[in-house]
Amino acid sequence: MQVFGIAEPGAPAEEIEIATPELTGASVLVKITHSGICHSDVHCAEGYFDLGDAGQMPVTDAGAEYPFVLGHEIVGEVVAAGPEAGVEPGDTKYIVYPWIGCGECQPCRDDNENYCIGAKRNLSIALKGGFAREVWVPDSRYLIPVGDLDPAWAATLACSGVTGYAAVSKVLTEEVDRPIAVVGTGGVGLSAVALLAARGHKNIVAADVNEASLENARKAGATATVLTTGADPVTDLVTAGGGKLAGAIDFVNNGATSGLALGAMGIGGKLVSVGLFGGQLAFPTTVMALNQLKIEGNFVGSLPQLRALVDLANSTELPKLPITEAPLEAQTVNDTLQGLAERTVVGRFVMVS
Ligand SMILES: [Zn+2]
Ligand SMILES: [Zn+2]
Repeated sequence: MQVFGIAEPGAPAEEIEIATPELTGASVLVKITHSGICHSDVHCAEGYFDLGDAGQMPVTDAGAEYPFVLGHEIVGEVVAAGPEAGVEPGDTKYIVYPWIGCGECQPCRDDNENYCIGAKRNLSIALKGGFAREVWVPDSRYLIPVGDLDPAWAATLACSGVTGYAAVSKVLTEEVDRPIAVVGTGGVGLSAVALLAARGHKNIVAADVNEASLENARKAGATATVLTTGADPVTDLVTAGGGKLAGAIDFVNNGATSGLALGAMGIGGKLVSVGLFGGQLAFPTTVMALNQLKIEGNFVGSLPQLRALVDLANSTELPKLPITEAPLEAQTVNDTLQGLAERTVVGRFVMVS
């Protein structure tokens, strides 16, 4: 199959031919029609994740083998299927769930494949991803029909969308009037604001360093906003929500933002850490204990959560970040990854074939 592979850390993507895995069992080969480019692809292209004072984690530690084929926001059509796949080649468009686990450990058996403790098979890391003409998917169960959704936007649900959905699931509380903060409302954060509102939360405080992002957050359903560039952002955050937080989702997740969210947290509150911007958290441990605080990380979401999100998107109007479409080519991959790294790309970028 034709892929846009990266031969070594930092190398540009080049169109190369690699062997297509055998179509045994329920596996399928999907011709890619839409392939989103995500900020996390930038880290993977560099070859490592930034772990703050703990240094760097090579992507090869997560099971990646060169040539890397990145890309995990994939929509396409089945062109070939194994004997047990139960789907026929045709022009039905599917979102491909990319966060595939080993299929055998307890989290995988519980349908929480993003918690897999075995040999993960994530597309774009352990398995070849969506910067390609075709992608091999180990089981047709990972295909979710796009339905009436815009396929370019639907592709982004597989990463930023399901990440927001899963993070919101972790922070939602029955106390719908207590403040929940969303820190960083540029991309995924904006969808989290909308999902909190769509799922019934009534006190949603958006926090960002950028007034334009806060304006978008208000349109998406934030009931209060805070510009966190002031002298005392913790007090500003508490004031905006009308009290200390019941929870917060941090889509930046560096030392400053996580410290801000924890500083504003009320008793029993939970911080959900999502962003991969790197950094180090310093926080008074006594306050952790006295206020019985919780910190829970979030990495993407499960297959049932992506299905639930697609259902929600088909029944509710969710905000759509501006999407730039460009041809599915190696050059597009390279230009966009560079633009994302230099922060000159606004909104989402989806390659179309
Ligand atoms: Zn992503
Ligand atoms: Zn597993």
